[in-house]
Amino acid sequence: MTEFHLSPSQMDQDALFVVRQLQRHRHTAYIVGGSIRDLLVGRTPKDYDVSTSATPREIRRLFNYARVIGRRFKLVHVVFKNNKVIETSTFRKAPEHDEADEADDLLIRDDNLYGTPEEDAFRRDFTINGLFYDPRSERIIDFVHGLPDVEARLIRCIGDPDIRFQEDPVRILRALRFSAKLDFSIEAGTRRFMEVHREQLKLAAPRRVRDETWKLLLCGHASACVELARSTGVLEILAPELAPSFDDERIAARIHAMLRSFDDDPPEDPRLSTVLMAPILFHAQLEPLWDRLQDPWKVRNDLLEDLSRDVLEPVLLRFGFSKFERAVVRDLLQIIIRLGHPEHPVTVPDRVRERPLFAPAHRLWEWTWAARGLPSELLDHAGDVIHQTRAAAPAGRRRRRRRHPRRAPEASPS
Ligand code: ATP
Ligand code: MG
Repeated sequence: MTEFHLSPSQMDQDALFVVRQLQRHRHTAYIVGGSIRDLLVGRTPKDYDVSTSATPREIRRLFNYARVIGRRFKLVHVVFKNNKVIETSTFRKAPEHDEADEADDLLIRDDNLYGTPEEDAFRRDFTINGLFYDPRSERIIDFVHGLPDVEARLIRCIGDPDIRFQEDPVRILRALRFSAKLDFSIEAGTRRFMEVHREQLKLAAPRRVRDETWKLLLCGHASACVELARSTGVLEILAPELAPSFDDERIAARIHAMLRSFDDDPPEDPRLSTVLMAPILFHAQLEPLWDRLQDPWKVRNDLLEDLSRDVLEPVLLRFGFSKFERAVVRDLLQIIIRLGHPEHPVTVPDRVRERPLFAPAHRLWEWTWAARGLPSELLDHAGDVIHQTRAAAPAGRRRRRRRHPRRAPEASPS
């Protein structure tokens, strides 16, 4: 078996500072969880968490900028430059299921008991997420058999998956995300109980399910996540409106092609991500619109109005899109119907091109046509037309609209 070794120089300096400060004051403290997993597989961790024997109050006293957060289970945000946060929590243990408990299910409602480091490792979700690192000894502490699973590239529940997914069904979504993101397989027993307990996602706090669903879609591996959600039957629970699209091979292939484009080139502004995701995922519902982008303007516009009102609005509402976000999706589609069909690129008025939504709309338009099998040269040419007209448009002068603009000469002789 591989001898795993991590050196403190690979770690985030602020997280090390937090651990060392706690250790200096005779507390046990480790860097824990996802960051250790990511470093072991050669990825840059998104953030670092620290766990310690110190109580929240003790932690807060050791740092200049630290705030205690959480109502039931309190933890501490130690704050560094640029508002960077190292989340620091006291070791805690999993609640025991009391037979006399009033509730006859295993759902965790209360998890505010302090515990030992070992108990803290065992309350975590997957073995690869249960590893601790002690920078002083430079040792990885593995109470949960996580290292062999890192080596075998496996997502496996800590403990009995039958129980762990019932305690917190959101773990089902986390397993999908880690599998897609790290390109790890899901261990057979774990996968089996994800499928068995997937209906329980309906019992979990809707807010958590929604947040975790967006994490799946925005983790940079949306296509793989959606495919895993489909094959485990989770998609049907999360989005019954969407599941039938994936029974149609042609539509499924298009949606996956668009999701891959999104994964490769997500919008810089995260607020646009959800808005761009909607027309991709609901491609089946919006297909009539794309089929008719060659039709006269009024036909396209009426169709968009009908589809927005009858199909898209109700679905987006159920998905938790705010009124503002729904309006932005609609504006985006309004630009799409202006862009029309790439075989007949049209000049778009300056006022439309200057809108902040124009670039994302154009991007979605390209992704969708590419997914529908149009050759990239054609799309590049259509894109050139759009950009050339922008560059060539002298401010304030009205250009003549041409239905089939010709390509301008590459460079004019001087
Ligand atoms: P990433 O931050 O890359 O999404 P992560 O593993 O760090 O992945 P976080 O949500 O930041 O995930 O959680 C930090 C750690 O807390 C996890 O590694 C895991 O040990 C534990 N954890 C998080 N959510 C759960 C849960 N629902 N059940 C049990 N343990 C959890
Ligand atoms: Mg994390």
